[in-house]
Amino acid sequence: MSGPTLEDAAAWLKCRVCGCTEQAPCSRPCSWAQEDLCDLCHRAAGALAEWTLGAHRPNRAALAREVEARVNSLFRTMAPRRCAGREAMHD
Ligand SMILES: [Zn+2]
Ligand SMILES: [Zn+2]
Repeated sequence: MSGPTLEDAAAWLKCRVCGCTEQAPCSRPCSWAQEDLCDLCHRAAGALAEWTLGAHRPNRAALAREVEARVNSLFRTMAPRRCAGREAMHD
């Protein structure tokens, strides 16, 4: 292969947290906060950091349950688009 161009470099970008790439971005199209961190994960980490510093008792297990509940309710609102293929979703 010839030397990498800027476009090739962009094609190699991959978020170290969620694994999104230029070719397979997050479902809400994201941009790069750092060269290997997308802005969606960057904002999530920032929110989590604020929570960790600010919460009276930052209980990550309890927070994970809250996130799960939120995801489930969001999933229900999105369900009509993907209810048929849920079992078929694999990487
Ligand atoms: Zn990400
Ligand atoms: Zn992303």
